[in-house]
Amino acid sequence: MSSVHPEQRIDPTAPAIEIRQLHKSFGDNEVLKGIDFTVDKGQVVCVIGPSGSGKSTLLRCVNRLEEPTSGQILVEGIDITDPDTELDQVRSRIGMVFQQFNLFPHMTVLRNLTIAQQRVKKRGRAEAERIARENLDKVGLADKIAAYPAHLSGGQQQRVAIARALSMDPDMMLFDEPTSALDPELVGDVLDVMKRLAAAGMTMMVVTHEMGFAREVGDKLVFMDGGVIVEEGDPVKVLSDPQHSRTQSFLSKVL
Ligand code: ADP
Ligand code: MG
Repeated sequence: MSSVHPEQRIDPTAPAIEIRQLHKSFGDNEVLKGIDFTVDKGQVVCVIGPSGSGKSTLLRCVNRLEEPTSGQILVEGIDITDPDTELDQVRSRIGMVFQQFNLFPHMTVLRNLTIAQQRVKKRGRAEAERIARENLDKVGLADKIAAYPAHLSGGQQQRVAIARALSMDPDMMLFDEPTSALDPELVGDVLDVMKRLAAAGMTMMVVTHEMGFAREVGDKLVFMDGGVIVEEGDPVKVLSDPQHSRTQSFLSKVL
């Protein structure tokens, strides 16, 4: 065990996320082949690319749901690939929202939002419930506090999942195709919540096929293919004038 408490090593001047030469293999399948990039505090970075290009694996490495094979990931200056780093500390600073919502089906919306606050953040019930209400209000679902997930639409479930992540006071949020499982008419409400979060200054890394969102909200767009970053830059520029033929080919299929 390290004698230094991880909180003490947070570097307030460091970028939110800095990835250096990240490699990840599953068996002999090398999925990430040397990824380098930085997410600055308050930045919204959108990640696009074909299925199987390693986007989810990249996000999952950032909060150590996957263990990198080699390379470094610094979160607020702390190397989370260092074996001394306490993963609970890292994960409590990074909120993650998945394509499939991942709410606890046997718990009410309120309990979904309070359980980790009480268990991980050690908040008392009254405080946890107050914070839950605040965050449900932010996503426009204060009236669903007593509902069970099965009684909500997919879009509402995803907004609950966002409110749940926010209730842990994360410094940054990772989104893995948060609207891909939704019926088209429900996508807008979730994107609106994400836009408000971005406008409020949240640092965000968003894997998405929503090019409109990337163009409007993203500070940076990263195009991945075959486990490498092929191209990155200002979203408006990358989308309107992609430099690499692989980016051009991908965008011609999705735009
Ligand atoms: P994307 O999110 O861009 O579609 P993924 O990161 O999910 O891509 O997957 C990239 C590659 O990694 C795929 O070939 C996938 O089969 C493989 N992969 C992802 N997760 C695992 C795993 N847990 N075990 C083995 N292979 C995996
Ligand atoms: Mg994926």
